[in-house]
Amino acid sequence: MARDITKLHPEARRLALQLVDECEKEGLVIKITDCLRDKAEQDALYAQGRTEPGSIVTNVKYPNSMHNWGVAFDFCRNDGAGAYNESGQFFTRVGAVGKRLGLEWGGDWKSIVDKPHFQLAGWGSTPAKLKQQYGTPEAYMETWPAQEPGWEKSADKRYKYRKDDLTLAASEWLTINNHWYLFGADGWMLTGWHRWNPDTRTVDPVDGSGDWYFLDNTYNGPLEGACWHSRDNGAQEVWFVE
Ligand SMILES: [Zn+2]
Repeated sequence: MARDITKLHPEARRLALQLVDECEKEGLVIKITDCLRDKAEQDALYAQGRTEPGSIVTNVKYPNSMHNWGVAFDFCRNDGAGAYNESGQFFTRVGAVGKRLGLEWGGDWKSIVDKPHFQLAGWGSTPAKLKQQYGTPEAYMETWPAQEPGWEKSADKRYKYRKDDLTLAASEWLTINNHWYLFGADGWMLTGWHRWNPDTRTVDPVDGSGDWYFLDNTYNGPLEGACWHSRDNGAQEVWFVE
């Protein structure tokens, strides 16, 4: 199903979710529409207006759409003003937010301007490069990192945590195996002393606000990253949650 965001390349999925959040902060309510389009879906789209009723909506056959490679997604307006109502520079403003996150925006293309479209940057507007490098979408997908909920260790021995909805924990506390862990804005599990401002949900806010927490920094220890708190008598104890 083309609307299934979990079928996207992990990076495209992460950015799509982030885009929705960032847009909301600016009062731009959007909905992600088409994501990965498999062969049957692209064939059906191509048939529309040709061998099937309706008007022509695409000139590309599988696998010549970036959507067939899982690196592209579309969005529409979701604030009740009409899905493709451009009033208030809506699509241009969303385009700017996406570009800030590092996405390529179809509204910047010269030949076919495609304002409701985003994709991973660096591949160009057609899948020519992807085809050359991987051959088929299936072969390309084989190279994608596997995604499952749980801890993810980086090459430089730091940790992120993927939640059940497959998004990464960021700027939040999570209870994992009875212990509290704090994650920074960029998703890294934190160790050592850090501040947390619950009102702004910010880790180590630059204005110096927030309360201090100590997160076990014993590298590779059983409680690495787990939160400690101080008792009334000044002792520190690990924060265990039943
Ligand atoms: Zn698109």
